[in-house]
Amino acid sequence: MAIVVQKFGGTSVANAEKIKRAAQRVIQRVKEGYSVVVVASARGQQTDELIADAHELNPEPPERELDQLLSTGEIQSVSLFAMALHAEGHNAISFSGGQIRMMTDGVHTKARIKSIDASRIQKELDAGKVVLVAGFQGIDDDGNITTLGRGGSDTSAVALAAAMKAEECEIFTDVDGVYTTDPRIFKDAVKIDKISYDEMLEMASMGAGVMHSRSIELGKKCDVRIHVRNSGNENKGTIITSEEEAQMEEVVVSGATIQKDMAKIGLVNVDHKPGNAARVFSKLAEARVLVNDIIQTEVGPKKANLTFTVGSSDLKAAKKAIDDVRDTVGCEDIFVHDNIAEVSIIGVGMRSHYGIAEKMFTSLFKAGVNIDLITTSEIRISCVVEKKDAERALIAVCKAFDLDKPVGKRKKYPRK
Ligand code: ADP
Ligand code: ASP
Ligand code: MG
Repeated sequence: MAIVVQKFGGTSVANAEKIKRAAQRVIQRVKEGYSVVVVASARGQQTDELIADAHELNPEPPERELDQLLSTGEIQSVSLFAMALHAEGHNAISFSGGQIRMMTDGVHTKARIKSIDASRIQKELDAGKVVLVAGFQGIDDDGNITTLGRGGSDTSAVALAAAMKAEECEIFTDVDGVYTTDPRIFKDAVKIDKISYDEMLEMASMGAGVMHSRSIELGKKCDVRIHVRNSGNENKGTIITSEEEAQMEEVVVSGATIQKDMAKIGLVNVDHKPGNAARVFSKLAEARVLVNDIIQTEVGPKKANLTFTVGSSDLKAAKKAIDDVRDTVGCEDIFVHDNIAEVSIIGVGMRSHYGIAEKMFTSLFKAGVNIDLITTSEIRISCVVEKKDAERALIAVCKAFDLDKPVGKRKKYPRK
């Protein structure tokens, strides 16, 4: 029997009414003849509330205990969901991540999935049950509960879809799909019908909170077709798929993102000699800091400046790592700024068209936004700006690239 994975985000299971409605989406698929695996997130804002509870008792809660606590939110959701299905006469069974041996590494609060025991799930599907799995969590080799990072239930769902060779992974959320940018900030953003894994990965990594970036990495690696859609209506959402299938060649810029929870650390006048960058970044890796952008510039034959950005939650660990290594690399001064944000544009069409960077920088200039740092990939241009300017910058960029218009009505750019 063909399998489909359906993931319901926090708002889609926020209360009994919403769980009942979500259960109907599952029943619909069962009636179509599919075996259904459901992944659910914690209800509503429960993860935030649990984090607040933890901080009330300890400003720096041990990460193992935090994972143990946070995992309970998703377990409540799936057991309640299973009860709702039983009430409708459908056989269903719920599991924690550990119970289906969702094996992860031992990095608490940002663990990575290593493997899943598909046989246990398959046995229950073969017995005619809907299988519900708590999202966002796994278990390490020593039996400790781990979590996958905020928004991580998407990754649980895509990993399950890959392990079960599902036909599709449906991500049910509170918007109609992936939009050209966050519709909460730019209300005229338009829904994207199809987007390639690479573009979605850049968007998710650069702040589009609609999908957990790791889920897209996995989706690409395992060729999982992902359908992001609204749990509150039947509209077709956004398909995340291979570049060939997405066929977005004529779209130059597919989307824009904003990342606000960021900080920048600069090492001023580091000795310009082989091995120093390696020393700095191995210290950061040891401290398990995720570094976003890195910029090094020469300031003379003997010295260089080294600047990098990190998520705000990693700032403390990053600062400590840098303090530990500064003397070894001859660093004369360190600056830390946490009042920055990053605005990015993303599109595979950038590879084959001219004038994109110029358009972005001009739109920021016209909006009176100063650019602090610029970084690029083959399909992305990012500008670090002051946090106070960030939303204005995003809106200016969206307007410049017609991200409020359907694809056919956007300005054309010369081809390379
Ligand atoms: P869930 O709880 O279902 O996982 P999330 O809050 O994680 O939902 O993700 C959905 C939210 O992501 C939307 O409400 C929207 O505000 C935000 N978002 C950010 N960027 C985008 C984008 N490009 N397209 C759609 N939604 C986005
Ligand atoms: N409940 C977790 C969070 O709020 C995971 C998720 O929603 O995907 O981050
Ligand atoms: Mg989410």
